[in-house]
Amino acid sequence: SGGPDDMPAEIWEKVKNHPCYSEEAHHHYARMHVAVAPACNIQCNYCNRKYDCSNESRPGVVSQKLTPEQAVKKVVAVASEIPQMTVLGVAGPGDSLANPKKTFETFRLLQEQAPDIKLCISTNGLALPDYVDEICQYNVDHVTITINMVDPAVGAKIYPWIFWDHRRITGYEAAKILHERQMLGLEMLTARGVLTKINSVLIPGINDQHLMDVNREVKKRGAFLHNIMPLISEAEHGTVFGLTGQRGPSAQELKAVQDACAGGANLMRHCRQCRADAVGLLGEDRSDEFTLDKIEEME
Ligand code: SF4
Ligand code: SF4
Repeated sequence: SGGPDDMPAEIWEKVKNHPCYSEEAHHHYARMHVAVAPACNIQCNYCNRKYDCSNESRPGVVSQKLTPEQAVKKVVAVASEIPQMTVLGVAGPGDSLANPKKTFETFRLLQEQAPDIKLCISTNGLALPDYVDEICQYNVDHVTITINMVDPAVGAKIYPWIFWDHRRITGYEAAKILHERQMLGLEMLTARGVLTKINSVLIPGINDQHLMDVNREVKKRGAFLHNIMPLISEAEHGTVFGLTGQRGPSAQELKAVQDACAGGANLMRHCRQCRADAVGLLGEDRSDEFTLDKIEEME
């Protein structure tokens, strides 16, 4: 089939032109993210809010935050310059579904102005069950959920708090709610036929032994890909985990966990952890060519 690992043919049919899912397509089709979602409803210990959501992004550069109108202007400008542009994602810099008005307004405007562009979102999953209807209403093709644990005891080491049901919740209880909402959201998306990929951040000493369990649980609930990404730990990223420095995994450690999970949910190994405002083919980032100033000049 040419698909990654043993992906079923009907799923491959849906994703083969998607740069993030097909090793082949990512040389020929472009994607972009628009940074319309600044707020977040949870705290990950590995996050530094000065930069983009670590779900899907490289540290170091702050994305230019856009209104939905600005975002759509940018998408239209990019699509006219980069004809391979097929996929638009909302991936932060916070959480797409902690900013539902902005995320879905962007999608609504895009459906009017550029109906051929496929839509995707990534989310930590906390708010996901509340927005499955909207996700289906706007024909969002793919959803990525970042799931780092399926055991709240592990989760409590990763997430100091969540904001849910109008209050801040901490500790084990917070991780348990997040876990339950992630599993429910994944099940609801699977039931509605929305392709769902799982990202996990490999955090040595915290969840490295645990990601096989994550792999098994997400596969059981219908995730079509499981992407295990390394924690990016650089001084300027401010990865703290309390106050002790938390290192990222070595290449060998990453590969060992990916290999241990092989045969479970299909693994995607070419995700580049793009910025929340990434533009272009995977592996290239042309976001600097499409700042708001430049887009306004193009008009
Ligand atoms: Fe940061 Fe993303 Fe975690 Fe929110 S979900 S705290 S933006 S890494
Ligand atoms: Fe694709 Fe990964 Fe980049 Fe998102 S972060 S656009 S999934 S390669």
